[in-house]
Amino acid sequence: MSEEFLLLNPGPVPLSDRVRRAMDEPMVSHRSAEFEATYERAQDGLEYVFTQSTPDERTTGEGTALVLNGTATMGMEMAVANLTDADSEVVTLVNGKFGRRFKRIAERHAQVRPVEVDWGESFDLDAVEAAVGDETAVVTMVHNETSTGLLNPVAEVGELARAHDALFVVDGVTSIGGDEFRIDDWHVDLAITDSQKALAAPPGVSAVFVTERAAERADGESAPFYEDLDWHLRKADQHQTPFTSAVPLFRALAEAVGEIESEGMPGRIERHRRQSRAFRTGFEALGLDPFPTLSGPTEYSNTLTAMSLPADLRGDDAGRFFDAVAERNVSISGGQAHLGGDIFRVSNMGHLSSAQVLRGVRTVGEALND
Ligand code: PLP
Repeated sequence: MSEEFLLLNPGPVPLSDRVRRAMDEPMVSHRSAEFEATYERAQDGLEYVFTQSTPDERTTGEGTALVLNGTATMGMEMAVANLTDADSEVVTLVNGKFGRRFKRIAERHAQVRPVEVDWGESFDLDAVEAAVGDETAVVTMVHNETSTGLLNPVAEVGELARAHDALFVVDGVTSIGGDEFRIDDWHVDLAITDSQKALAAPPGVSAVFVTERAAERADGESAPFYEDLDWHLRKADQHQTPFTSAVPLFRALAEAVGEIESEGMPGRIERHRRQSRAFRTGFEALGLDPFPTLSGPTEYSNTLTAMSLPADLRGDDAGRFFDAVAERNVSISGGQAHLGGDIFRVSNMGHLSSAQVLRGVRTVGEALND
């Protein structure tokens, strides 16, 4: 009999039973007191996850967590569209698929000044410094680049952005909830995350943390109607969304962030670091090389692991490897866009057990030798 299905893709990730059950409750109106209580629970939990501090511990970083009826791409667009107009300059950092997505979004709303390197390469901080000036309205970057498994230097770029009074918008989709994230210390003005990644909730909703600094500069006039940030902030004060909320998904999200609060972020971060190290060490012991070779201020991700496929399983031959993994009832991801056929990626976001990490390594080892 084959082993139980194991989902190791970098999102969506496996859900706890409690989170799954939360979606199966009787329906209520999104304007009811019961829904407002759910929204408030989600919001409180998210504020803990985004700031990694409780209200008592919080010293700075006043802001609001919003839940959005859409995935993180909606949050990325909401940020850029509300914080810029057609003449604003956006410096956008690209070293992977999601950095490129930010650039494409910014191109629709503002004047873009990209700082672009090959996918998997480190940013040259001198080049970032040269690009950011007093005329820069917004700097965007991805913290944990899911397409390459790299952790980008948010703290350093945040300092450059703040020195020029530019707003700093960070995609923390695969870091927030699984790794360290410091809104205040890193000068982040608006952060975005997705439900189905390190928050371990079902896909379909996302969350943004909007600091007062960002809220003051937001102008919903130029934003898409559905993404008017002022309007979302006003409704969030009443624990509602401007339009119909995806009630079951909000309930599941409230449970998921409640579980994170119970575990506590320090222990959760430590667990994610341990498990990603275990994946990387295990794969290296099988003779595989991590992707890419590190250079500059970039580090390997603590929430997902990307490895280069061996030469005899690249390109069209990669299919044999992925089929052999799938036959063992394990789901992993290949490379995205031009990295397809070159690498594979596994996630340790959410609630993996040590036994599941070991099974992931064993399965890859077996598939390599099939
Ligand atoms: N940013 C990063 C780093 C991601 O990994 C993803 C999804 O994989 C997104 C943004 C956007 O995700 P979605 O397709 O859920 O909008």
